[in-house]
Amino acid sequence: MDEERRCGACSLCCTVLRVDELRKLGGVPCPELAAPGQGCGIHATRPGICRRYRCLWLQGRLDEADRPDRLGAVLDLVSEAGMPRLAIREAEPGAYDASPRLQEIAARFRETMMVRISDQADVLDADSAYRVLLPGGAEHLVEGDRTTLRHPDGRVEVQRLRWIERLVRRAILAVRRLRIRRWPRHETRER
Ligand code: SF4
Ligand code: SF4
Repeated sequence: MDEERRCGACSLCCTVLRVDELRKLGGVPCPELAAPGQGCGIHATRPGICRRYRCLWLQGRLDEADRPDRLGAVLDLVSEAGMPRLAIREAEPGAYDASPRLQEIAARFRETMMVRISDQADVLDADSAYRVLLPGGAEHLVEGDRTTLRHPDGRVEVQRLRWIERLVRRAILAVRRLRIRRWPRHETRER
C-alpha cells in the first residue's frame, strides 16, 4: 500500500458513490463538497464511511497516473458471494468504452476475477443496466431481470431470472425504495 498517496484534486467518489449516512444517492454530488477541486467541506467531521473509504488508486494498487478523476471512473475490489471482483463505476456513461486505459486495467483484472462496469445509475432505477466481464472473454449485460450473455465466439444467449429470483429481486427493490424515497435529491444530473 502506498501511504503517501493523497486524493489531491480528486473528489470523484463524493459524487459517484452512495453515502447512506448523508442520505446521498450514487451519481449525485455530495452537498458537503466544497468548491471544485477543494474536496470535502466538512473534512474534520465527515462521516465514518468517508473516513474509511479508500479507492483502489488511493490504496496504491493502480498506477500514479490512474487517479480516478483522470481515469473517469472509481475502481474498487469488492466481494460478492465470497468472490472478489473489480467494480468500475463510471463518472459518465460510456467512460469505459471511451478509455483504452480503463479497458487495459479491466483486461488485467479479468484474468483472475469478474469485472463489473456500471455508471452512476440512480439506485431507485431497478432496470439500470450494468455489464460483467468474465474471465475467458464472455460478457454479461444485465438489464432488470434479463441477462444477455455474449460469448467470445459471437454467440448470444438471453436469459431471464427464474420467477422466484424475480420475486426476491422485486421485494429487495421495494424495501430499498421505501428506505430512501425521502432522501433529498440534491442536484441531480440529466441522464
Ligand atoms: S475516488 Fe479515490 S482518489 Fe478520488 S477522492 Fe475518492 S478516494 Fe480519493
Ligand atoms: S461528506 Fe465529504 S468526504 Fe463524504 S461524500 Fe461528502 S464531500 Fe465526500
